[in-house]
Amino acid sequence: MDDDFFLVRFWGVRGSIAVSGPEFARYGGNTICIEMRCGKHTLLFDAGSGLRPAGRALQASDVTDFDLLFTHCHYDHIIGLPAFAPIFDPSVKLTLWSGHLAGRMTTRQIIDEFIRPPWFPVKMNVCKANLDCRDFVSGDVLRPREGVVVRTGSLTHPGGCIGYRIEWGGRVVAVITDTEHEPDKLDQSVLDLIEDADLVIYDCTYTEKEMERRRGNGHSTWQQGVKLCEAAGARALALFHHDPTRTDEQLDEMEKLAKDRFAGAFAARDGQMLKFRVSSHRKR
Ligand SMILES: [Zn+2]
Ligand SMILES: [Zn+2]
Repeated sequence: MDDDFFLVRFWGVRGSIAVSGPEFARYGGNTICIEMRCGKHTLLFDAGSGLRPAGRALQASDVTDFDLLFTHCHYDHIIGLPAFAPIFDPSVKLTLWSGHLAGRMTTRQIIDEFIRPPWFPVKMNVCKANLDCRDFVSGDVLRPREGVVVRTGSLTHPGGCIGYRIEWGGRVVAVITDTEHEPDKLDQSVLDLIEDADLVIYDCTYTEKEMERRRGNGHSTWQQGVKLCEAAGARALALFHHDPTRTDEQLDEMEKLAKDRFAGAFAARDGQMLKFRVSSHRKR
């Protein structure tokens, strides 16, 4: 049964910082974390505060051997790592990947620097899981598990960020967070990653109107997401990396506007799960 589906689950969809309160209850307040199940293989993308509930769910379903790929290591993408229960479990085998700081910092250095006093009570070596840290360079094609192909590319973000294209079972899901677009221009690196994708998870932090005064922050808009998906022949667009001020009502409105322009658009929410049945008709 599992082998028939490419499953995507959003554990954290909020950008910048976690939020809570009744005005965020439906879309959720956890920062970036996405789980993908490619048949029996489990991959996680980013370790924001949504990683904590993801860890509990993995433990509940006895998943002990999986991969975690970082887009980059800004706080909203790593803050959940010290609260991720599986890293303290000696029966867990976790492979960690990063490439945004290639040649400057290894994946191992990134987590060692982050999990240590005085910012955290203990050092990384209290984590009893078997950690296998891997480094790659943007453009590399990763094969983390049998049959799973992960293509990588550079996004436009301060300090660098990696976009991912995950291919398995004839299905394609792309993770494009965080990235800033240039006005009236489609980023070729993004187009390559999202070409003919079943789902594009895209940085929709701002609206085009807000973008005017947010240049340089390294984020994009739902309007740009729609343009990119149309140009690349992608089928669905998840508005993602919601601004921390964006309320449920505002996200409803943003989703409606995006849907009017592109039928496959929707605003991602914490806990949301999407299933794609394995397809044998795809070329690549
Ligand atoms: Zn971010
Ligand atoms: Zn960032």
